[in-house]
Amino acid sequence: MAKDFPYPIWNIEMETMDLETRKTLQLYRLKELVSYVYDRVPFYKKKFDETGIKPAEIKSLSDIAGLPFTTKGDLRDNYPYGMFAVPLDDIVRIHASSGTTGKPTVVGYTQEDIDTWSEVMARSMMSGGTTRKSIVQNAYGYGLFTGGLGAHYGAELLGASVIPISGGNTARQILVLQDFGSDVITCTPSYSLYLAEEIEKAGIDPKSLKLRYGIFGAEPWTESMRMEIEKRLPIKAINIYGLSEIIGPGVANECQEQKGMHIYDDHFYPEIINPETGEHVQDGELGELVITTLTKKGIPLIRYRTRDLTRILPGDCPCGRTHPRLDRIMGRSDDMLIIRGVNVFPSQIEEVLVQIEEVAPHYQLIVDRDHNLDVLTVMVEVNDKLFSDEIKGLEAAEKKVAHAIHQMIGISVVVKLVEPRTVARSEGKAKRVIDNRKLN
Ligand code: AMP
Ligand code: ZN
Repeated sequence: MAKDFPYPIWNIEMETMDLETRKTLQLYRLKELVSYVYDRVPFYKKKFDETGIKPAEIKSLSDIAGLPFTTKGDLRDNYPYGMFAVPLDDIVRIHASSGTTGKPTVVGYTQEDIDTWSEVMARSMMSGGTTRKSIVQNAYGYGLFTGGLGAHYGAELLGASVIPISGGNTARQILVLQDFGSDVITCTPSYSLYLAEEIEKAGIDPKSLKLRYGIFGAEPWTESMRMEIEKRLPIKAINIYGLSEIIGPGVANECQEQKGMHIYDDHFYPEIINPETGEHVQDGELGELVITTLTKKGIPLIRYRTRDLTRILPGDCPCGRTHPRLDRIMGRSDDMLIIRGVNVFPSQIEEVLVQIEEVAPHYQLIVDRDHNLDVLTVMVEVNDKLFSDEIKGLEAAEKKVAHAIHQMIGISVVVKLVEPRTVARSEGKAKRVIDNRKLN
């Protein structure tokens, strides 16, 4: 007899499967995957041969610990299509990660991958409160970034009405919220707060809107931010997680209990490791999330190091789903910053600064949230010669630095030139980043 669940569930069979059955399915899929990548991706064949791994020797799920990790660096080294497991003929979509490090990380999807992605996004949208009756205002960016199209396909598969408004143009977002009666919005959490502020500024009572749920992700956020969003809009704010290398949004998503994100481990097998040693941490302990894509065909990845820090939450969820839950992402194990949704490495900025003769490569990056939008200030020392120069020369140098950084990372920054030898020096690791956003 069908069991009753407190909230609607998109795929009852998969989302509430008993753990033993799911383990059997995972092992079957893992074996298939390992042979698949060995036969099709020269990168994996070489790695397996070097370490003496034979696909036929995978006998249990714990054997995964003997497989090599895959990193973002491996994807870069094989740019753009070297990690694909199928010919381009079979690829129906190409996306890229939001990092604009000159060359983005490129990912390709077969039709089957698009179907898997839509399926996990439909699960996510429904667990976040979306139904067939919903009107979904999809304010994630459409384009190379996976957010827009990911949410779009998931909401359509679910049977909701999707408004593909994409990101930005806040006045239009508000008009559509008012006139089209959207009850679900999908965007970054920081944008939702900006939107709340603009709604208030326009003298509109947020309670007069039909909005009930927001499905927010693509950047780190906190419980206090959730409380603020829920109070100001007022809606239920749901956390969604994903990354383009694995599939895009929909890797894990909160249910309405809002106590951790169920990771769809029939497709994305999670491990939590100590980022220093690569060993598994104890159950429930904080560490780096590593994911193996059990079913992906276009660009399947073995033990991909996400660099995202989280833990697996113990216990069962009252919603009835048996997928394990990830805690909110607490930070990253590398120095990547996410500024307005764009991945930025301090090393990229350093690369620009060392090439500009007017400044010395002593710098600090200061990140603030101003009216809920990220602002990156680059504080950099000028050289002695320029310092004794006229103000005109300083202004020109400031513009030059700002322009060069914009070219490199694709977002605008505030440049502050400071006197020689005023940026704090450090004896150990330089403290390059001051993040005032209080995201942790
Ligand atoms: P991209 O592949 O460019 O979409 O970026 C993926 C990265 O965004 C992840 O590895 C995370 O660092 C971050 N991210 C995505 N969703 C969340 C979330 N809900 N909370 C915190 N960080 C997130
Ligand atoms: Zn749940």
